[in-house]
Amino acid sequence: MAQWKTVGNGMLEGISQVADLDASKLTVTLAKTLKPIPPHETLTFGNTMSDHMLIAEFDPESGWSSPEIKPYAPLNVYATSSCIQYGTTAFEGMKAYLGPDGEPRLFRPDMNMARLTRSVDRMALPPFNTDQVLALIKQLILVDRRWIPLASEYSLYVRPTVIGTGTGFSVAASDHATLCIMLSPTGPTSAPASKPISALAVSETVRAWPGGTGGHKVALNYSPGFLPLRVAQKQGYEQIIWLLGDDMKLTEAGAMNLFVAVARDDGGIDLLTPPLDGTILPGVTRDSVLTLANAHTARETTLPGLEETLHLHTHERPFTMTDLLRWSADGKLLEVFGVGTAVIIASIGKIGFKGEDIILPTHEGGLGPIAKAFRTRILDIQEGREQWKNWSILVNEL
Ligand SMILES: *Cc1c(COP(=O)(O)O)cnc(C)c1O
Repeated sequence: MAQWKTVGNGMLEGISQVADLDASKLTVTLAKTLKPIPPHETLTFGNTMSDHMLIAEFDPESGWSSPEIKPYAPLNVYATSSCIQYGTTAFEGMKAYLGPDGEPRLFRPDMNMARLTRSVDRMALPPFNTDQVLALIKQLILVDRRWIPLASEYSLYVRPTVIGTGTGFSVAASDHATLCIMLSPTGPTSAPASKPISALAVSETVRAWPGGTGGHKVALNYSPGFLPLRVAQKQGYEQIIWLLGDDMKLTEAGAMNLFVAVARDDGGIDLLTPPLDGTILPGVTRDSVLTLANAHTARETTLPGLEETLHLHTHERPFTMTDLLRWSADGKLLEVFGVGTAVIIASIGKIGFKGEDIILPTHEGGLGPIAKAFRTRILDIQEGREQWKNWSILVNEL
């Protein structure tokens, strides 16, 4: 059996033995009939798929097959496949937006590709050159570009997924894999920006733990959260804030990175988010919020609606429920929000903990001024109205 090993950006070593993923070998089989596109107001997150998908398969003897764009359809995999039996699935989530020029753009796709490489590696799945994945994402978006909604805050969600397709019950790495990429038109509806959400802080079940897989976008991190979420929802909360450890450190909110804004005595604001210690998913939105906050403080930019002179002091450090309760009691807790590609920013207005609720200050329009500043600026960059550090990449230039 051929051996493979990750080097650099996921490129296969020993390409003479097995073929790497090669976007130039792409074949396209178009759907005979195209689906009607639903009115964008009716879209809910992840429930509508475009006409086509992309597939490539890895075989240990021959390597990656020629990638294929074909009509969206069920996969042909055995029930004994590694992904079904042992959860060898890694995925990404990114969005394509239309700019004012009508051209599709992706937001910081290099970060998604680097993370996909790490997730695939963590699942011991065969690697691939992520430049080729990006080239294939581009081709798929161009084939299905009529699915990118025209309205602001709407976009085409891109879900690259890698599954282990080796068969049998041996508890070992899968030597076969399939890369699939799906497209789903989506709107701002997954968490209406106009209304803050409520979240229950939970410590009996944990999302991630030291040495675990919480820092990777792998499927097995998510299903264990479904039952606790259902329990929280029965108690009237929309999301979960995952706590960790005896000191009850706040980690993430659902599948969003978590930020809190705390007033300082010097008139500035502390903006805290937990550190990337392996239990926190290294979010693209998280990194973007931190970068923009630092740029505002350095006067490299002025975030919309914020005073130019406001100092946002960013901290990537742990904070606990004790901290949160103290800030709240002192009247210093300004805002709590979750961030991620799907929602961009979701304000949290109420946090349930041990039978009591921590109530955050309310703001007209739902979002507090800090959350709103980031949401507005990030959306402006994503939709191509603002330029910032090459974060918005024209799909045509990939
Ligand atoms: C995807 C994800 C996020 C957000 O990451 P983005 O790159 O900003 O979309 C945060 N937490 C978890 C657990 C996630 O899966």
